[in-house]
Amino acid sequence: MPGARVSEPERGGRGRSIVRRRPLPGAQAPASRRSSPGENATPQRASTAFGSRVGAARGTAERDAGRPGRVPRRPARRRWLLLLALAVIVVAWARGRTLPPEHSEASTQQAPKSSASAAARFAAPAGLNPLACRMYAPTGPAVHRTIFVDAGHGGVDPGAIGVSSSGALVQEKTITLAVAQQLLPKLRAAGYAVLMSRIADVPVTQLQAGDTDSNGFTLTGEHKDTAARIQCANAGHADLLLAIHFNSFSDPSAGGAETIYDASRPFAAQNKHFAGLVQRELIASFSAEGWTVPDRGTKDDSQLDTPAFTSQAENYGHLLELGPAQAGWLAHPSAMPGALTEPLFVTDRAEADVAVNPRGQQAMASALAAAVAAYFAPPTASASAVTSGSPTAPLGASAAP
Ligand SMILES: [Zn+2]
Repeated sequence: MPGARVSEPERGGRGRSIVRRRPLPGAQAPASRRSSPGENATPQRASTAFGSRVGAARGTAERDAGRPGRVPRRPARRRWLLLLALAVIVVAWARGRTLPPEHSEASTQQAPKSSASAAARFAAPAGLNPLACRMYAPTGPAVHRTIFVDAGHGGVDPGAIGVSSSGALVQEKTITLAVAQQLLPKLRAAGYAVLMSRIADVPVTQLQAGDTDSNGFTLTGEHKDTAARIQCANAGHADLLLAIHFNSFSDPSAGGAETIYDASRPFAAQNKHFAGLVQRELIASFSAEGWTVPDRGTKDDSQLDTPAFTSQAENYGHLLELGPAQAGWLAHPSAMPGALTEPLFVTDRAEADVAVNPRGQQAMASALAAAVAAYFAPPTASASAVTSGSPTAPLGASAAP
């Protein structure tokens, strides 16, 4: 909210281009090794990346492998019955093969990208962590859109540190991942391909000498890690970028949800529109659960006055993940509309409680899924009811490169 000193939180690393987080007291505890719901869920998620396709292929191979030589000589009638049964199986199998999304996608003319087959073919760019930049095919009927879901921070970078009312340490990186992982199946079921920036407690970039020091990321490392997220989103030709973060501030009474967008990009109208949808859905979702979370609104990233730690970052004046190219600072900006949301303050104990609560995480994931759906909904269905700022924006339909 304008004016208030409190409205300028000590933003996380993704905040204001390359803002370096100074952990609060207690942040140095080796909490990055602690397990969390998000981390526990990770191995299962990881193995399901292309589960349906792998499973189908293996099933076929096993059937074929078991067949030769196993049928002994039998009376002719039995052989005919066997052949008939085999024919039925083959026909059924062939029919089943026509059902997967990649086939239905091939029969439609629009949007050749973002399909299940494209998801299966996706290869993460080189130089990223093996548990980063993973593409997931839709599980529902494909809508031919890819959503880049960026769980902020990870690994050596805990992000903001807070404390719940029970005294438990709350790390931003853990909650961002938990929410992202609950958002993943919702988006897939709605027909989206989903590109996850990370699926475990890791940085997105592959760490090298000079990327970290005793405080976590160096400025170089943090810049590299954000650039790696952008690289991932662009490599996957995502149609929409959604970065999930949580806020913090030295005054524990500061709270609320806010969503940040960049107003300087060619797709600024879509950015603003999407940020508005995210914000609207988050507030509605919290409210439906009976939680009072102040609505801090949407913010243009050039108007954040969080201090930057380098003159380059200060001069840049945008969130690195959302902002435009700048010679010598950012060569390859994100190429699609998007927003960075901070649904809660982890330094507000009541909000930290919501952040660590599985119900709270579900509420946020549902809100974010609803915002994505509203963004891609036909303008007549939703745009008029939402932001007055961009009623005629093409809602991202043609904004991706
Ligand atoms: Zn953050």
